[in-house]
This record gives sequence, C-alpha cells and structure tokens, in this order.
Amino acid sequence: MNFDLTEEQIAIKKAVREFCEKEFKPELALELDRKEEYPLELYRKAAKLGFTSMFFPEEYGGQGCGLLETCLVIEEMCRADSSLGVAVSSGSFGSELILEHGTKEQKEKYLPRICKGEFISAAAFTEPNISGSDITRIETTATKYGDEWWINGTKTFITNATIADFIIVLTQTDTKVRPTYRGETLFVVDKDVEGLETTKLHDKMGIRCSVTGEVHFDNVKVTDQHIVGELNRGFYHSMEFFDETRVGVAAQAVGMAQGAWEIAFRYAKQREAFGQPILQHEAIGCTLAELMTKIEAARWLTYRAAWLIDIGKMDPMATAMAKQYASRVAMETTDFAIQTLGGYGYLGEYRVERYHRDAKITEIYEGTSEIQKLTVLKYLLRKF
Ligand SMILES: Cc1cc2nc3c(=O)[nH]c(=O)nc-3n(C[C@H](O)[C@H](O)[C@H](O)COP(=O)(O)OP(=O)(O)OC[C@H]3O[C@@H](n4cnc5c(N)ncnc54)[C@H](O)[C@@H]3O)c2cc1C
Repeated sequence: MNFDLTEEQIAIKKAVREFCEKEFKPELALELDRKEEYPLELYRKAAKLGFTSMFFPEEYGGQGCGLLETCLVIEEMCRADSSLGVAVSSGSFGSELILEHGTKEQKEKYLPRICKGEFISAAAFTEPNISGSDITRIETTATKYGDEWWINGTKTFITNATIADFIIVLTQTDTKVRPTYRGETLFVVDKDVEGLETTKLHDKMGIRCSVTGEVHFDNVKVTDQHIVGELNRGFYHSMEFFDETRVGVAAQAVGMAQGAWEIAFRYAKQREAFGQPILQHEAIGCTLAELMTKIEAARWLTYRAAWLIDIGKMDPMATAMAKQYASRVAMETTDFAIQTLGGYGYLGEYRVERYHRDAKITEIYEGTSEIQKLTVLKYLLRKF
C-alpha cells in the first residue's frame, strides 16, 4: 500500500471539499436538524456530480471507483457537516446488496436511478423484539404460497425508511432449519407495494436530518424475482455487506472528528484567556495535538480497511478495528471540541454540540463497538 493518497484520490477529496463548502451551509444543517428533514435537494446535487455513486460501475452510471474513494467522499462530507454528510452519503444505503448479489433485471431497474440520485434505498435488518446486534434470529417471515412469497413482520431503526423508493429486507424463509440463520433470505420490495407501511421515528439524539423509521410488512406479496442473492443465504450476504459498509461508518467518524477538531483549533487560536490564546495553554493545545494524532491514526486504519477490500483481501478484523477506533476518536474529539469552545460550544450555532450528538451513532449502527471488539478478539485468538 502507498503511504499516501494518489493524485486522483487527492483530487476527489478536493472536489468534494469544494462542493461542500458551497452547498453544506451551516444554517441549512441547523434548520434541517431542528425540522428532522432529509436534504433531498443536496442529495440530488451530490448525485449529479457522482459523489453518491463512487463505487458503482460506469455501466450503471457510477464512477467505477473503489471503497477507498467512497470513504474519501464520506469523510469530506462529514467533515464539512456531520448531519448533512451522513444523510447525503447514506442515500443509497442497501443498494450495494443489489450490486453485489442482484439479478441482471434488478441491477438494470434500480442501479441507474440510484446513481442518478432519482432513487433512495434502504436496508432493513433490525427488529423491535430481537437484538439488532444478533441477526441470526429474526421474526419477519416470507412464506411461499404458490408462486408468491408473503412477507410479514416489522423492522425498526431503518435509515431512509419513509423516503426510500425500495427496501432490501432480511426475512426468515425456512423456519425449521437450525441454526436459524441458514434459513434467512433477502428480498427487494418497492415502496408502493400493497401491505407495506412506513412510519418515521422522531427525536433522535443526532443525525436528525437522516430519516429513521419503522417498516411494517402485512402480507406483502413478492415473487422469486424479488429475491436478492441466493435463497436462504441472506444472512451470509448481509454479513459481507456489513463488513464493507461499516468501513464507511468509520469514514463518517473520521470526518466528524476532523470537522469538529478544525472548529476547535481555529477557535483556540483566537480566543484569549489569562492574556494569551487558549491554544497556548497546555491543557488545550496539547490535547488538540494529541487528538489530531488519534484522528490521523483512525484515518489510516480506515483507509487500510477500505484498501484491503478494494484489492480483494477483505479483513474483518481491520474493518472492525477501524470502525471501533474511529468512532471512539470521534466521540472524544467532538466532546473536547465543545470543551474548547467553553459556553459557546454548548450552543447549537457553534456546531460542535451537533457534531458530538451526531458522532454517537457511529458507535451504535452497523455493529456496536462491543460487537466490533468481539470481532477483533475472535481474529486475535486465531492469530496468537
Ligand atoms: C439512527 C439509526 C439508524 C439505523 N439504521 C439502520 C438501518 O438502516 N437498518 C437496520 O437494519 N438497522 C439500523 N439501525 C439499527 C442498528 O444497527 C442497531 O441499533 C444496532 O445494531 C444495535 O442493535 P440494538 O439497538 O438492538 O441493540 P442490542 O443488540 O440490543 O444491544 C444493546 C447493547 O448490548 C450490547 N451487546 C449486544 N450483544 C453483545 C455481546 N454479545 N457482547 C457484548 N455486548 C453486547 C450492544 O453492544 C449494546 O451496547 C439503526 C439504528 C439507529 C439508531
């Protein structure tokens, strides 16, 4: 691996930074955070420039890049604004499953419109009654009657639930097999199908302009054509999916940490106390230096995890390390950014309190930090 980004990768970062400087207005972020509203117009603008389809192949209208380039985009967006960054970069969440496992028809139907920003997608695994960390057991079923599968159940905490044009859903298709995860299957369901109902969840701690909701399936009828990947292989497809997408969450965390750190650093250079800029007080200056060291470490863990996937050597331990470490660094940095700004840090207008609220999700979704540590431990035990 090169120990620096290529010229092309640096150019991607620069282009995203310019886009965000122009479009990610702090007032807009504050307003959408208060209204819990998705930045649809921004998503479409970003899609037009190719920023939401980095790793989709060119034949579907994507950029044909890798996960590392995708991470660079996510990082820059979340640096510019923690809420807008997450919302815009998650508009196509779940479409990776179609790309990886979908049929030719499914790819042709969904991917070009995802790449253009005309479609938004969602992926539904988590359920209200059963732990989201453990998707080896699920209650949502798909039962075959003749040529049809009837889906019944409820999924919760689903990103984009109420605004998605289609949803990939993990169901139990074989209820007798043991272990149960050997009987799970993924289906793609269009938003306007009969029996599908979505409701928005309100009052989240952070990422409030990313829409989260419940999805109810009441005898939703689909066919074999809606199966994504192989029948009864949904659990395995989902695990592989998370091994990739959680590197993107690490990139969100790195971007948020970087963004909050920059606000804090700028402030510390000009705010004076006891006759000198607060940056000159060791407790502030040295902590900011230490935090940048951690951000840089988190960044390279993330880039390496993405790069390993891009070269076909996906390493779940590298992915888990990146997500767990980067999300902790994001929490630490955004917390200290509030501290650096003192009373102003506690006000919404100064942005860092929102970065802190937003950063917390990176320790929870797509595998909590505890689950990441268990993964790291599992692979360490194999090695030592
Ligand atoms: C804003 C938001 C967006 C989300 N988006 C989506 C989405 O798009 N699609 C989707 O399917 N889900 C989504 N989720 C759900 C998310 O992935 C789950 O909340 C997460 O995986 C944790 O599951 P849980 O909430 O059921 O917690 P639980 O699994 O019940 O865990 C509770 C606590 O127990 C700990 N724990 C569990 N098992 C162990 C163990 N073996 N060892 C040690 N500790 C353990 C966890 O780490 C956690 O601290 C989203 C959640 C949020 C809040």
